[in-house]
Amino acid sequence: MFDVIVIGAGPSGMMAAGRSAELDNKTLLLEKTDSPGKKLLLSGSHRCNITNNCSDEEDFIQNFSPTGKFLRNAFSVFFNRELLRFFRKRGLDVKIENNGRVFPVTDRSEDVLRVLVKYVKDSGCAILYRKEVSDIIKQGDVFEIAVKDNSRYSAKKVIVATGGLSYPKTGSTGFGFHIAKKLGHTVIEPKPGLTGVILKNDFLKEWQGVSFEDAAVGVYADERLIHKGRGEMIFTHFGISGPVILNMSRIVYDAISSGKRVFLSVDFKPGLNHRELDLLLHEKLRDNAVKKINNALKEIIPARLVRKILETARVDKDKRPAQVSKKEIRSILETLKGFRLAVESVRPIQEAMITCGGVSVKEIDPKTMESRITKGLYFAGELIDVDGSTGGSNLQAAFSTGWLAGTS
Ligand SMILES: Cc1cc2nc3c(=O)[nH]c(=O)nc-3n(C[C@H](O)[C@H](O)[C@H](O)COP(=O)(O)OP(=O)(O)OC[C@H]3O[C@@H](n4cnc5c(N)ncnc54)[C@H](O)[C@@H]3O)c2cc1C
Repeated sequence: MFDVIVIGAGPSGMMAAGRSAELDNKTLLLEKTDSPGKKLLLSGSHRCNITNNCSDEEDFIQNFSPTGKFLRNAFSVFFNRELLRFFRKRGLDVKIENNGRVFPVTDRSEDVLRVLVKYVKDSGCAILYRKEVSDIIKQGDVFEIAVKDNSRYSAKKVIVATGGLSYPKTGSTGFGFHIAKKLGHTVIEPKPGLTGVILKNDFLKEWQGVSFEDAAVGVYADERLIHKGRGEMIFTHFGISGPVILNMSRIVYDAISSGKRVFLSVDFKPGLNHRELDLLLHEKLRDNAVKKINNALKEIIPARLVRKILETARVDKDKRPAQVSKKEIRSILETLKGFRLAVESVRPIQEAMITCGGVSVKEIDPKTMESRITKGLYFAGELIDVDGSTGGSNLQAAFSTGWLAGTS
């Protein structure tokens, strides 16, 4: 009989198991695949953006869906300061990149994983691999854990840390949602989060690979502006991606799912207001008077965009700058400040970086991570209905909820 069994050796499960064992609880960690932290290894393009350096907890919470308030208690106990202390104490140095993103100095997610696995083992917790839990049965005060290979384990308390539904090859296939429902919990419909947006436009092949360090993007549903974002983006074979798009994909998904007609309006020059861009356009046309307008425009926007921008602005690409009317310059300007991209849908949940939705926060005690419905059952990590934007918020949430569940 174990004091605590943790299901799932992702970042939240490893943190929970290590913490529980460190507090002298006889703890077992069961993992379905043949190794721990498969998704953690992929994270941050294999560099692992472990957290964000944002110093204010309330500001940090703003990076989450509205249910992010649920994390207040977990953050008050184990926030980014504590996380960085945890890693530094165990020999992992970190560096801070743009927008406060924190990475190991080595740029290797393996180094993050190594610290976590060592923490679990040094705390005295056993990890068993290829142990896919198929059921959790509560008998009196004891939990019976049934594993697909027909083995069984019992524990006084169980922490479910099995992740969401995205990247199923890493092991997260929604077991936690299934078991939470079975044990009486409400599961908010799982949806793709932090994923690319599929566009309908036929010129995308031409634009594929073109990226912008800074673009401002508005989401319109049935012609009404419902969201705005700004940041990096890239055109891809299916449509559009990059941080600014990933962060708005949940909103796009919801609008599409409710039957709305959705388009993105892209401002390719958000650093310039209309007057400044107008001046720049006039200047470039004056300086390139001998060229055709399409060549002159290449000084302002990536060459591959020019043909479509001029077509949309209804300006003949073969005109010389002197032949372009003020009205036509105005039209180019409006096109650059608000290019419409028709949205078809978002990439499927299997390809999404995170799963939105999950076990309802209303039924979990935020001070302990214990179920309000089944005593002795705890949740940690991505399977809880809290989702954050890119930049380290999701791993911080996994570590914080794991730590709190393990402590409780
Ligand atoms: C490509 C990619 C890049 C990302 N980059 C970042 C980043 O840089 N920064 C960031 O903050 N977030 C990032 N994320 C998100 C982050 O990785 C996840 O939010 C985080 O891994 C969730 O941790 P978790 O422990 O809750 O779940 P997971 O990491 O999904 O771990 C769940 C574990 O449970 C195991 N399991 C599942 N079912 C069972 C079962 N029945 N029995 C036993 N074990 C089971 C799984 O095999 C898995 O090991 C990224 C995600 C992806 C996909």
